[in-house]
Amino acid sequence: MSKVNFFSGQQLPLEMHKVRIIQKLNLLPIEQRRQAIEGAGYNTFLLQNSDVFLDMLTDSGVNAMSDRQQAAMLIADDAYAGSATFTRLHDKLAEIFGMQYFLPAHQGRAAEHILGQALVRPGTLVPMNYHFTTSKAHITARGGDVLELIGEAGLQVTSDEPFKGDLDMAALRRVVEQHGAEKIAYVRVEAGTNLIGGQPVSLENFREISEYCRAQGVLSVLDASLLADNLYFNKTREPQCRDLSIPEITRAIADCFDIIYFSARKLGFGRGGGICVRDETLYKLMRGLVPMYEGFLTYGGMSVREMEAITVGLDETMDEDMINQGPQFIAHMINELQARGIPVITPAGGLGAHLDAMRFLPHVPQAQYPAGALAAALYVASGVRGMERGTLSEQRDADGVEPLANMELVRLALPRRVFTLSQVNYAIDRIDWLYHQRDLIGGLRFVEEPEILRFFYGRLAPVGDWVDELVAAFRADLGSSL
Ligand SMILES: *Cc1c(COP(=O)(O)O)cnc(C)c1O
Repeated sequence: MSKVNFFSGQQLPLEMHKVRIIQKLNLLPIEQRRQAIEGAGYNTFLLQNSDVFLDMLTDSGVNAMSDRQQAAMLIADDAYAGSATFTRLHDKLAEIFGMQYFLPAHQGRAAEHILGQALVRPGTLVPMNYHFTTSKAHITARGGDVLELIGEAGLQVTSDEPFKGDLDMAALRRVVEQHGAEKIAYVRVEAGTNLIGGQPVSLENFREISEYCRAQGVLSVLDASLLADNLYFNKTREPQCRDLSIPEITRAIADCFDIIYFSARKLGFGRGGGICVRDETLYKLMRGLVPMYEGFLTYGGMSVREMEAITVGLDETMDEDMINQGPQFIAHMINELQARGIPVITPAGGLGAHLDAMRFLPHVPQAQYPAGALAAALYVASGVRGMERGTLSEQRDADGVEPLANMELVRLALPRRVFTLSQVNYAIDRIDWLYHQRDLIGGLRFVEEPEILRFFYGRLAPVGDWVDELVAAFRADLGSSL
């Protein structure tokens, strides 16, 4: 059973852990936040962490470790080859996923690189529910093509559909019938679909995909980076999982796949990654690439300390009390924002809350980056750092034309086990204040626009003097409060 606190008749999430190590935070006064964002070219990626109060940029590599993880790091077995630390990680993965072979890699995209090298050939296809940036890059770099087959609900910003990450089976059948099974490098399914709001995939869908792939002789690959949140949603939203334990659901999902890879910057509350393989032939096909690109087969670019932390983190992932905090906090955030009329992606997913900048700032044209403007405005109003996921994150085409994104989102990631409920409530309160001032917020324009990955390094400036007006409104409303 998931635990909630019914204090004062209000349903609030209840942390099933206590904090034993803390890091002091800095909440700069608004004038300094204004200067900091100007210095960062209105790009939240370029802010210094010391100028940020609550860092909701990402959930990658910033999840909180437990006392058990830190203790395990102290007993790590340092060895280039054959360390006991690697054996412990291997055995834990074999226990939870039921696959005998494991190839370590330094992070998720490194696992994707190896999969791409081993399995993708020019002209082959990789159907998937939805792409992730690095997953797609490693497939297209090998001359493969990504086909996104997300169900219709997946791209609707607001929905009641509990499993918006589900792959459209009819579309998968059409693709295989049209191109033939031999053209499919593999089918990739991403648990907790990152770029559409951390939306989960149902066990039902995993099973349908698996059954079809096996009948067609097509390889199936699970990207399990966001599996922890997905497991929580299977358990709480899917009737057939209600009476299963988290380890049972995990095994039921794993049984659907030939290969499982993951970023341990998310799964396992650590830093690292790897590829689990069911079949020895496939394992041997990829094995040679690990020493070539990552490191020897018993560390793959990870430190032994990180491997120990991941082993314990994977064990904790099998404990519902350890994985429910993130999704429950996000659900709280989404409920509270919705109750205030603030446009967000629904239903709540894993990973974070997503503000819909298209509806938040309908007066800002997409060519002036409403999601980028909203992320900058939120930092000024609160010290909270979010990430733009909209037109700014797109790339110009060969003719220099800028594609407009399907969605203009500000992602507010909640790193797992990191924030307290009062910090989340602070963020909600400031977003609410900003929503009341939304008419003041204007757009952004590029001052320096890099050719590739412009969202990482690009520098922008406000269109007009709306930032000054926002600071003045803040002072008028909130006086000397930070
Ligand atoms: C983060 C992520 C990756 C890449 O992992 P890194 O460790 O950041 O390289 C791949 N897939 C998904 C779904 C992710 O969320």
